[in-house]
Amino acid sequence: MCEHFKLDKTTMKPWHATILTLFPEMFPGPLAHSIAGKSLEKNQWQLSTINIRDFAKDKHHTVDDTPYGGGTGLVMMADVVDEALCAAESAYAEQEQPQYIYVTPRGKPFTHDLARKLSKNSSGIIILCGRYEGIDDRAIEHWREEKGLIEVSIGDYVLSGGEMAALVLMDACVRLLPGVLVKEDATTSESFEEGLLEFSQYTKPRVWKDKAVPEVLLSGDHGKIAQWRLQSAKAITKERRPDLWGKHLI
Ligand code: SAM
Repeated sequence: MCEHFKLDKTTMKPWHATILTLFPEMFPGPLAHSIAGKSLEKNQWQLSTINIRDFAKDKHHTVDDTPYGGGTGLVMMADVVDEALCAAESAYAEQEQPQYIYVTPRGKPFTHDLARKLSKNSSGIIILCGRYEGIDDRAIEHWREEKGLIEVSIGDYVLSGGEMAALVLMDACVRLLPGVLVKEDATTSESFEEGLLEFSQYTKPRVWKDKAVPEVLLSGDHGKIAQWRLQSAKAITKERRPDLWGKHLI
C-alpha cells in the first residue's frame, strides 16, 4: 500500500475525499488554506491520496503505454488504474457508497448542483486523476458498470492532468458541508443557488472613485434591499448567462 494512503476505516465519519493520482504531493495544496484548510484541520472533512504508480506491475513502475491505433502520447493502463481503484474501494466499509468520479474534459460539466449532491453523499467521493492522453477507456467503462463512476469536466479546455480539476471539485464541495462556513446560510444567496448569478456586492467606503453605493443598500429597509438584490441578480444573469436566464424563466 502506498505511503500516502492514510485512510483509516475507524475515522471515516466525516465527508471523505480519496484522490487517485500520479502526483499525491499536489494535495492538499491550496486546500490546506482558508476555509478548506481550517475545516480539514478541524476534521470536518478528510482527504487521502493513493499513488497510482504503486500499482504498476514492472520494476520500472510503468503506468502507461502507446495507444492502439497509433498517434502521439501515452495512455494510462487499465489494469494499473483498476488496481488503484480496488485499493480505494477496499478502504470503505461495505455499506458505504462513495461517488466514483473520473475527471476528464469528456465528462459532463461540473455544476453547483453536482457539488451540492456530492457534498450530501455521506460516504464522500473517490476522484481518479488522469495524466498523459488519459486512461484506457475499458477501466472507466468497468467502474461505470460496477460502481456507477461518473465522468466530470471542469470546463471546455484541456489541463495537463486531473489534479487541478480534483482540487476545484473538492473546494466547491467542502464549502457546502454542514458547519464549514461560519454562518450556515452563507451559501444561500450565492451564485447558482437559486439558478441566478449573485447580485452586486459593496463594502466601505460609501463613495469610491466617484462611484457611490446604491442608496437603497444604506436604507436599512430589508424588504427593499431584498427586492433590489433580486433585481440585480436577474439583470446580471440575463446579461451574462442567457443559458441560466432561460432556465430560470421556465
Ligand atoms: N486526451 C484527452 C482528451 O483530449 O480528452 C486529454 C488528456 S489531459 C492532457 C490529461 C488528464 O487531465 C485527463 O485524463 C483528465 O484527468 C485531466 N483533465 C484535462 N482537462 C480536464 C478538464 N477540463 N476537466 C477535468 N479533467 C481534465
